[in-house]
Amino acid sequence: MSPCLCRTEVVPSPIPLLAIRSLGKRAWVRIRLSHVNWPKIIFGAVGVGFAGWLAFVLVRFNIKRLRIIRVAATATDQQLEEIYRLVEAIGSERPNGFVLARLNRVAGDFSCIVAIPQQMRRFPWAGKSVAVQVDTDVRFRLVDDHERKADFLGREYRLVALPRIRSKIGKIRNLFVPTTYARKNEVLREKLASICPEYPTELLSYLLCVGQETFGFEPMRQGRIGTTPEWVQDPEFQYCDQCNKRMALIVQLPGRLLHKKAFQEGTFYFFGCKTHPDRTRTVAQFT
Ligand SMILES: [Zn+2]
Repeated sequence: MSPCLCRTEVVPSPIPLLAIRSLGKRAWVRIRLSHVNWPKIIFGAVGVGFAGWLAFVLVRFNIKRLRIIRVAATATDQQLEEIYRLVEAIGSERPNGFVLARLNRVAGDFSCIVAIPQQMRRFPWAGKSVAVQVDTDVRFRLVDDHERKADFLGREYRLVALPRIRSKIGKIRNLFVPTTYARKNEVLREKLASICPEYPTELLSYLLCVGQETFGFEPMRQGRIGTTPEWVQDPEFQYCDQCNKRMALIVQLPGRLLHKKAFQEGTFYFFGCKTHPDRTRTVAQFT
């Protein structure tokens, strides 16, 4: 029996809708473009493509991150010490500040305390320590503990003197950026590459940025002693209630150093007045 000559079958489909029409022995497929929701299809395809690309980037980023963390964790005391000495050697002027750097050493307890180096000039708190007590709130106080250098949550850190240089026009400034250190010192580059050949400068960023578990350099996640604060939000400089002068930064500590769960996205700033060193204030900012 011959097929019906006038019957049209429309195949429902979200993709190009096909209309099949049989006419005698001839048949053709007609694409009914007017029935296709092209914007939806294009938008969906772009979305799927973007999600795939994002997943790829995230996986690659995480592999790199874990690799750097693993390499840093296996570095010896001697290797880290050599790196930090090379960083300090970049400076041509007497340092006026320090950053906390990672060590693979365990501290005696879980207290949070950092000693302010004696050699900091015109810094009234030099020789004292800043102890941080974390309960329901976070309290900073100055103490006379000279035993420990920098302990946070059971780990020891090293204070690395910030390289301070004089520019061609005679201006003195601190260098904070690890990539600048690597660029300025070939021996440092070689030393880093001998530990982590794939990502030498990223390793240095990770070592000098103790408030995050990744390799991108975020100055607001650094632990700093002296120098200038790197604000998470808008600046909140503090002023002495006795002389009304702007206070100096004593320490900047990322929240990760102070508690294993809370304050992960925060940074704490402890200020004091150089004229009235017992007047202090604490500021916390969160992303
Ligand atoms: Zn004052």
